Amino acid sequence: MRKTVVSDALFERARRLFPGGVNSPVRAFKAVGGTPVFLARGQGARVWDADGNSYLDFLGSWGPLILGHADPDVVAAIESTARRGTSFGASTEREVLLGEAIRAAMPSMERMRFVSSGTEATMSALRVARGYTGRHRFIKIDGGYHGHADALLAAAGSGVATLGLPGSAGVTPGAVQDTIIVPFNDEEAMEAAFAANQIAAVIIEPIPANMGLVPPGLGYLQSVRQKCDAYNALLIFDEVISGFRVGRGGAQTLFGVRPDLTCLGKIVGGGLPLGVFGGQSVIMSEVAPEGPVYQAGTLSGNPLAMAAGLAVLRKLDQAAYDRLDALGRRLEAGIKGALAASGVAAQFQRVGSAFTLFFSAEPVTDFASAKRADTGRYARFFHEMLDRGIYLPPAQLEAGFISLAHQENDIDAFVAASREALATIH
Ligand SMILES: *Cc1c(COP(=O)(O)O)cnc(C)c1O
Repeated sequence: MRKTVVSDALFERARRLFPGGVNSPVRAFKAVGGTPVFLARGQGARVWDADGNSYLDFLGSWGPLILGHADPDVVAAIESTARRGTSFGASTEREVLLGEAIRAAMPSMERMRFVSSGTEATMSALRVARGYTGRHRFIKIDGGYHGHADALLAAAGSGVATLGLPGSAGVTPGAVQDTIIVPFNDEEAMEAAFAANQIAAVIIEPIPANMGLVPPGLGYLQSVRQKCDAYNALLIFDEVISGFRVGRGGAQTLFGVRPDLTCLGKIVGGGLPLGVFGGQSVIMSEVAPEGPVYQAGTLSGNPLAMAAGLAVLRKLDQAAYDRLDALGRRLEAGIKGALAASGVAAQFQRVGSAFTLFFSAEPVTDFASAKRADTGRYARFFHEMLDRGIYLPPAQLEAGFISLAHQENDIDAFVAASREALATIH
């Protein structure tokens, strides 16, 4: 058995300080049970907890760590930048450099603004879309996650295209009264929502990863683009996860759909707090001080985050994505073999180096089918894997990630552990 003495003691102290003992809810292991691990150190593909147990990390800080932990170039960039000052509240050259690198990778982001989290990026993009179109209502996908701004914390009501209900205590009905919820991969529901409302924008993860990983159906994103054009609404791609994960140009390049606004976070910050929103130049003209939509931040464009982001983007060439995809294919083949051998009904869903193993008999195409997955079985699988030194997302409806620090034998270790774990939970 893993030793957990130090983690358990730390968790006791943390519980006295932080709600649930954590500073972001899903870290508390509520969805899988047990005491969360306290991590002490990461290097490459591996993390060590406070008790000295080591794990191969397939969570990657929920997506940012595409180079793995403590990449030497990223660490060097942060160190040398920190020696010259960590924040100025004034413009620096690095903002221009990172902005230009992002625009070169994603030409739809003609102009942009840096913020400090994905939540700020989506919240601000939505505000810009409303300011630009002069409309209030927007369409959000059921089970899509865009951070924790009030208007975006809406849950689906009954029916196919529904007005949002507050998805959290403390969110007023007024805050979500202009949020229309439709299921993913459902063109008819989206058409109905457009027909019945004056829509400012659709905000969508082009490859949803917060209901587990769910690829878009053939032609779906194109159809969303067409509806936005037909109704003069803006298309906002939330690429906080997919940006720089599924390719240098994100999902918009992979699927050939150009959004009006894009939100980035996670990878682009190289493991430091960073978000970005941007898009068509004329739309970004709405943002203060050029336009009337207010948006600001003391630490926006933070030098350390700029340096880390630049260091990461420099290493993400086509060879890097080919390598990530090859590792992803190896994992997929191995897991599918392990599933077949075990007789456990499950779906391994993957785009490049992002994946979810759904304990479900049918493919998962939207939030309703995602919720039919067997979360109890996932919880048992998670703990069997953790005990075998494999660190996975501590919830069924989340995505795992492979990094460039993973080697073939790390993938094979994942598969070998899965064979044992699947036999145990069968
Ligand atoms: C993580 C995430 C966010 C929120 O980003 P934070 O940095 O956690 O605020 C928004 N959208 C998507 C798709 C995400 O995965």
